[in-house]
Amino acid sequence: MTDCLFCKIANKEIPSNIVYENEKILVFKDINPEAPVHILIIPKVHMDSALELDESNSNIISHIFAIIPKLAKELGVDEKGFRVVTNIGEYGGQTVKHLHFHMLGGRNLSWPPG
Ligand code: 5GP
Ligand code: ZN
Repeated sequence: MTDCLFCKIANKEIPSNIVYENEKILVFKDINPEAPVHILIIPKVHMDSALELDESNSNIISHIFAIIPKLAKELGVDEKGFRVVTNIGEYGGQTVKHLHFHMLGGRNLSWPPG
């Protein structure tokens, strides 16, 4: 999508601090971290949110979650624990309309969220 911030980051039109990349996904540091470790995991293919997932395209989710343990170990959050979350729509707190997973760690995260 031409006017999407995360598509531009995926296409390297906008720079980001890349943590991991392969042909399907990009992982980069959140510009405004809410925890000592705060990275974003995005599919390179545009989807507005998890609401667009179905049987035909949801294999990207298992691909993303298959990478998460490796990222957790590299970032040193595997032992203490961390959180993976995707915000959906207005009430979900989604500000960027390109599917992304936040991975947060390095501090004790409260629950439930606000
Ligand atoms: P959302 O609120 O949609 O779940 O999360 C969007 C996230 O993207 C926020 O945590 C925000 O800090 C991050 N973000 C917004 N613009 C940029 C940017 O240009 N670069 C990076 N690295 N992160 C961004
Ligand atoms: Zn996009």
